[in-house]
Amino acid sequence: MSRQYVDAIMAAVVERNPAEEEFHQAAREVAECVCSVVDKRSEYARARILERMVEPERQIMFRVPWVDDDGDVRVNRGFRVEFNSAIGPYKGGLRFHPSVYLGIIKFLGFEQVFKNALTTTPIGGGKGGSDFDPKGKSDGEVMRFCQSFMNELYRHIGPDTDVPAGDIGVGAREIGYMFGQYRKITNTFTGVLTGKGIGWGGSLVRTEATGYGLVYFVTRMLEAAGQSWEGKRVAVSGSGNVAIYATQKLQELGAKVIAMSDSGGYVVDEDGIKLDTVRRIKEVERGRISEYADEHQSAEFTPGHRGIWTVPCDVALPSATQNEIDTEQAESLVENGCGFIGEGANMPTTSDAVDLLLDAGVVIGPAKAANAGGVATSALEMTQNSMRLNWSFAEVDNKLRTIMNDIYDQCTAAAEEFGQAGNLVAGANIAGFVKVADAMLAQGVV
Ligand code: NDP
Repeated sequence: MSRQYVDAIMAAVVERNPAEEEFHQAAREVAECVCSVVDKRSEYARARILERMVEPERQIMFRVPWVDDDGDVRVNRGFRVEFNSAIGPYKGGLRFHPSVYLGIIKFLGFEQVFKNALTTTPIGGGKGGSDFDPKGKSDGEVMRFCQSFMNELYRHIGPDTDVPAGDIGVGAREIGYMFGQYRKITNTFTGVLTGKGIGWGGSLVRTEATGYGLVYFVTRMLEAAGQSWEGKRVAVSGSGNVAIYATQKLQELGAKVIAMSDSGGYVVDEDGIKLDTVRRIKEVERGRISEYADEHQSAEFTPGHRGIWTVPCDVALPSATQNEIDTEQAESLVENGCGFIGEGANMPTTSDAVDLLLDAGVVIGPAKAANAGGVATSALEMTQNSMRLNWSFAEVDNKLRTIMNDIYDQCTAAAEEFGQAGNLVAGANIAGFVKVADAMLAQGVV
């Protein structure tokens, strides 16, 4: 019964959303994990909860025209997919990257629904972005693009409706330009975006939150296996927001980060990555990770970003992008003795690679759970904005740690309840699904 149910739902998803492979992948993973739940609780099937969940409540696509520094007019495409608001206003980041199309935004928005449910905070799921590439653009060009993007987006969002944040290619600079334009158009100063600057409504710890939260989550995975970070060799892919602050926390806890990457390739530094250098290159100079090896003799740069998974490590934290670990990389991680994977990026591991790793006994902290610290802290930013006060760094960090512990406990409990003890991938999907499903049942067919 459950196999047929999942196959029927997935056939419809593929037919109704052609050529959106990442979305199909994300939907199938959830559908397969929750079919044992639907088997046990027939009211979900009767109310067609899963069928409703895979259909976004609303999706918006729009033209984003802007003028570059040479005076030429450029045109990009903007997206906002408002996926599910059963437990709170839509919440999820904006991604600016040339690979962005509807399928990427839908996979991210779908994942966000379950992730946000796990955070214990009252937020629904959405995601947005553009195929605009901020790389190589001047600040003026980025500003004009962000303003044009907000000229359309503003009418769809609001502090009680939909609250976007950053993601790949959208950091403090882009959030600033978009917030400024929203404030000007609407003549309101509200918590409509999160990831704001500290002096104008932002929350302490939001910048660090996804990376720190990831490390807090993996700490629980290690503890469950009777281990700690002390002396662990860790490979962290990417060198953006998530990767940098995960590395900072790892180093604080005694782990040795030996490799980082960007889309051009990866560096290995057996003496341990010097984070100050990475931060200067990436956060200040907006340069390439290859420049790290020019400055440190102990380091070597190799082109090709997936090669980082051939570096022997105890723990791997994929924190760059979707599907960066395929079966080939998974095999090499297993062969090299990696025992733990904490997903900092969204869906960084292909479905086949997840199966291979779980079969090999690798413990996986799935993205929905392990990287939820960012959006959880965004929810804390919304709370502070509503209360019109600011909490201290320690206060927010403590709340973040409590939330990550809570998420870990929810995942282990759900996995156990549905006969998959120790499988955090199944646990995260089930726990997130049940929370949203119950809210949808209670609210009727809307
Ligand atoms: P950033 O833009 O700050 O950094 C992204 C990093 O990943 C860069 O090093 C970038 O390299 C690399 N990267 C991006 N795209 C690719 C690609 N196609 N192939 C190889 N490398 C790539 O983004 P974040 O750190 O914010 O996000 C990283 C991941 O974490 C994403 O999957 C995001 O969805 C997820 N995430 C982020 C959260 C946050 O709070 N920021 C919250 C939860 C999840 P390059 O500079 O060369 O492009």
